[in-house]
Amino acid sequence: MHRRTFLGLAALALPGCRRLEHLGIPVTVHHPGMAEGHALRDGAPLPSPVREIRTGVAILGSGIAGLTAGWRLAKEGVDDFLLVEGPELFGNAAGGRIDSPSGPLAYPCGAHYLPLPSLESGTVREILFEQGVIEADPSGERPRFSEAALVHAPDERLLFDGSWHDGLLPTEHVSAAEAAQHRRFLDEVAALTQRRGSDRRRLFCVPRVLSSADPAWRRLDATPFRDWLVASGYTSPSLHTYLDYVCRDEYGAGSAQVSAWAGLHYFAGRGGQAANAADGALLTWPDGLAPLARGLAARIPAARRIAGHALHVTEDRQGVSILCRDAAGPLYIRARRAICAMPLHVAARIVPHIRDFGFDPAAHLPAQASWLVANFLLDGFPPEPADAPLAWDNVIHASQGLGWVVATHQLIRAARPAHTVFTAYRALADRTPAEARRWLAGARADELLALAAADLHQAYGKLELWRRTLAVDITVRGHAMATPTPGSLANPGLAALREADGRLLFAHSDLSGYSVFEEAVWWGDRAARQVA
Ligand SMILES: Cc1cc2nc3c(=O)[nH]c(=O)nc-3n(C[C@H](O)[C@H](O)[C@H](O)COP(=O)(O)OP(=O)(O)OC[C@H]3O[C@@H](n4cnc5c(N)ncnc54)[C@H](O)[C@@H]3O)c2cc1C
Repeated sequence: MHRRTFLGLAALALPGCRRLEHLGIPVTVHHPGMAEGHALRDGAPLPSPVREIRTGVAILGSGIAGLTAGWRLAKEGVDDFLLVEGPELFGNAAGGRIDSPSGPLAYPCGAHYLPLPSLESGTVREILFEQGVIEADPSGERPRFSEAALVHAPDERLLFDGSWHDGLLPTEHVSAAEAAQHRRFLDEVAALTQRRGSDRRRLFCVPRVLSSADPAWRRLDATPFRDWLVASGYTSPSLHTYLDYVCRDEYGAGSAQVSAWAGLHYFAGRGGQAANAADGALLTWPDGLAPLARGLAARIPAARRIAGHALHVTEDRQGVSILCRDAAGPLYIRARRAICAMPLHVAARIVPHIRDFGFDPAAHLPAQASWLVANFLLDGFPPEPADAPLAWDNVIHASQGLGWVVATHQLIRAARPAHTVFTAYRALADRTPAEARRWLAGARADELLALAAADLHQAYGKLELWRRTLAVDITVRGHAMATPTPGSLANPGLAALREADGRLLFAHSDLSGYSVFEEAVWWGDRAARQVA
């Protein structure tokens, strides 16, 4: 069949998409939320609605935080609420679907994996148990997880010095002195996982707010991670390259940009275990975390969801008034209470009195990383060395890209599928956040494609990649996630929003100063319990 007939289904009806034909290959570029966000930024005039809906609780945003809030309210038997989905259903946990000649294939447009949840992530475990991902003992030290969701072997490999190796840290392939530093670092972070501060709390915890407040350890928030590594005697170039990759992959910014506290938190914060998998195992699905988002959304009746976005939020003695827009035009939602589950850079535009909470956008908005997520629909699989087969996660040492995951990796079949999707990730960490967003806003589709395809080019060569590619679907996330830069733990504006307990509450992973599924769940659940 002719390759041009395969277009991303997810792309067809969306506004703000750009199209490109590259070597006859259809390329679709999405900018979720950009048009709506820029209209707010540019002060577009507010419409005057003639419609009005009254509700008990309005949830503004359908990312994992907003969905968790709706899920919890529904579970608690609260039925007087509305969820305004925002410009992107499921936010960073959205997935896509594309028709290949051998059938539809799913892929992530953002978040793609979840580590084994910590004991402190009780609500995450509750959600996973409800959805069948945890099969037994959800509150125990070692729950049993569904084998379908645990990442299958081979899980990860690294292109280092011209060949592929198991794992992402090339300890077996560097000098003895470098390898000794790798081991010392891993031993140090393993010890930190269990260590407690003067307040008896674990030093590093997910969710972050449960971490120890011991000032001796909080001091690490003031220092860039790279400086801390050097001061601690970690000079191995391969260790530095690996840790810079880890920071870009987790936080969207390199080890010189994130705090030492955040760098260590990545390694020491979770420590979740499983009855049927090794420590450090991961959970994933073909379309990343989208199935978990769908599972949460399934609890929220369609009649409680509005496919629109908020433009302006005000409070008075009766409650909260939210000016929204949906497909039928503008409307007012009058709610007794509201949960702002949208990113804080958006909340700062639509909640004009946000400073009254103690949050000054000019001083307190976390730095925000920009990302590209590019899905390549491939005809078959490129050739691989016999001794280093394709893994779920494939990373190139010292690349600015973050490698690619294989969306069909978890599909259990007797033979490889005829078609697959490789999902390439790139955080624009080599530019300042402002420069990255400026570049993204003006970049042509072919420039975005060149950046997104860089790791795949390096691994397979251009000829092989484009020979197999049937379509490409690129998602541009200019304000993708908060970055825990030095000082972010002590950010007083975020602390103030976390404490809000009036008519208007805030719930988004931004409140944690960094972005992962567990943090979004924590804030969504907490806000719902406050209003229930
Ligand atoms: C590329 C990428 C990869 C990631 N990978 C992972 C991963 O593998 N594992 C992991 O745990 N985390 C990952 N993350 C982090 C991810 O952000 C979190 O897991 C989580 O999905 C964040 O949820 P949230 O609800 O806090 O925010 P968001 O996902 O930002 O959701 C915000 C919601 O607000 C809505 N909204 C925006 N404006 C308005 C408005 N005006 N009115 C109403 N609603 C509005 C949006 O449409 C959206 O629904 C990744 C993030 C990115 C960007």
